Amino acid sequence: MRKTMVIGTGPAGLTAAIYLARANLSPIVIEGTQPGGQLTTTTEVENFPGFPEGIMGPELMDNMRKQAERFGAEFRNGWVEGVDFSKRPFKVKLEGGEELEAESVIISTGASAKYLGIPGEQDNVGRGVSTCATCDGFFFRGKKILVIGGGDSAMEEANFLTRFATEVTVVHRREELRASKIMQDRAKGNGKISWALNRTPLEVVTDETGAVKGLKVRNNEAGQEELVEAQGVFVAIGHTPNTKFLGGAVETDDHGYILVKPGTTETNVPGVFACGDVQDMRYRQAITAAGSGCMAAMDCEKFLEGSMVHDWSGN
Ligand code: NAP
Repeated sequence: MRKTMVIGTGPAGLTAAIYLARANLSPIVIEGTQPGGQLTTTTEVENFPGFPEGIMGPELMDNMRKQAERFGAEFRNGWVEGVDFSKRPFKVKLEGGEELEAESVIISTGASAKYLGIPGEQDNVGRGVSTCATCDGFFFRGKKILVIGGGDSAMEEANFLTRFATEVTVVHRREELRASKIMQDRAKGNGKISWALNRTPLEVVTDETGAVKGLKVRNNEAGQEELVEAQGVFVAIGHTPNTKFLGGAVETDDHGYILVKPGTTETNVPGVFACGDVQDMRYRQAITAAGSGCMAAMDCEKFLEGSMVHDWSGN
């Protein structure tokens, strides 16, 4: 019987794996469809302490994985389809039918990019519509791009995309941006970025050949529809926690984020812990995810040695 299992391999899951492996608990780590998590779709990470010159996201994740492997963590490709946490050992069912068992589970499945749900959006994903500038920016070299959203993600994507585009237009549904001041200032100081504020996205529009030609928006001030022309549409409006596969096996909030006992990584199920973006809609940083991964491993260790008093209350 495995003592412990980690589901998800972003900074939270990999940090948990490093700590568990160093505690001789030989964790099995389920990688999911995007091994390394969201950081594998980022370029340079400038704010992870210890890298004064910055480090590329994929390299940082690769290093964390190697570190976990060095201490005996076992990695498994696989997509978790369902869980049974009603009794121990906990059961985790992989796509394809295989079932794994463990005495404890750490959930670190992160969050995924949100879409707008407007006409023309899903039809053109990978053909002019994207949620990942790092992955797809290159395809829009010398073209006009627009980025939808007013948060830090949108500012970051817009700045990054100016490397490729002739012009990047940020489309935001309000006049005020949600992004932090430093990110706003950086974007506003970038001469290649223009602004279409107070515009609500309505539809991704294509030409007669099927190529994306722009975004139909409602100009909320003028009360009329307009077309913002662009060949590439990048949606940067936030994320959804990856908790569907749990089927309600642990308590979540209304948005689907796992509830943990404040100041810990304990879920309402003794022996099941959560760390990283899947339980954090507030900070969502690589460093906070990694920190909570360490906490989850330590909580898990305590649970396995029988010294944890489960006194759960979510927030
Ligand atoms: P966010 O802060 O939730 O911003 C989402 C943006 O998308 C908001 O401006 C929102 O508009 C807009 N939006 C949401 N749904 C929409 C819809 N259906 N139609 C049109 N617009 C819509 O998400 P985020 O930018 O991904 O940031 C999430 C967290 O990660 C934040 O804490 C952020 O600081 C952090 N982050 C940090 C960095 C960094 O420091 N390098 C980079 C990226 C993200 P409203 O403003 O009108 O609600």
